[in-house]
Amino acid sequence: MRWTPGNRGNVQDARGRSGGGYGMPLGIGGVVILLVGSWLTGVNLFDVVGSGGSTEVVAERPVESTPEEERLVDFVDAVMGDIQGTWSSKIGNYQPTKAVLFRDSIQSACGMSSAATGPFYCPGDRQVYLDLSFFNALHQKLGAPGDFAQAYVLAHEMGHHVQNLTGTLESQPFSGNANERSVRVELQADCYAGVWGNEAAKPGRDAAGKVELDPGDVEEGLNAAAAIGDDRLQGKSQGRIAPESFTHGTSAQRVSWFKRGMETGDPRACDTFADSR
Ligand SMILES: [Zn+2]
Repeated sequence: MRWTPGNRGNVQDARGRSGGGYGMPLGIGGVVILLVGSWLTGVNLFDVVGSGGSTEVVAERPVESTPEEERLVDFVDAVMGDIQGTWSSKIGNYQPTKAVLFRDSIQSACGMSSAATGPFYCPGDRQVYLDLSFFNALHQKLGAPGDFAQAYVLAHEMGHHVQNLTGTLESQPFSGNANERSVRVELQADCYAGVWGNEAAKPGRDAAGKVELDPGDVEEGLNAAAAIGDDRLQGKSQGRIAPESFTHGTSAQRVSWFKRGMETGDPRACDTFADSR
């Protein structure tokens, strides 16, 4: 991907905020172990998180960072800005949000969350939450390298923001059980990620300060979608697959819906609730 650093208006830096409650502070190594432990037991793989409720004392610490990490902050800011620009032209009454960057754990309107949750969207405060160490684990532990794989994660979470703004999260009628509903919601977020990808793939965008894709970027996104299918993760962690416990859909489904968004660029093509497959 090609992109230009901006003014960080699309991120909120909470990396110096310590929420407590998870044995702080943990080094990066500890976080990665936490993350992998969580994924391999089949917990959230970038999820929409419901409301929690605990309140914790919050302490601010100075942010210790590296040039590499700062570049990642700029990357997240640039991609978030691009995704928001896309959606503000696709749906009426789009309301901007931010990606809250945290380390180890964070207090949101959805309660206290650890990095082990993975990136998530909190409907209660309409923000995306991300511990940047996830990107490293996405590459190293889940086998999904590349900047567009990272962008897909952000675009998926922003898909939940769109669902929140359009009412899908709260009021979409559905007759199936909670797991089946969750799969529909998550696959639609994958499709919405593709809708942004369709926009990002258009040529000549960098002239307007927008992100542009390089050859191989789309493949990185498709590979990432396949890497985090419920069937693949369950196979890895448990050695068996239990479809009734799926929450996000199979690798094939995630790839298929992401592709559908990429190919059409049309959110109306993302009606996973109407689709009977
Ligand atoms: Zn999700």
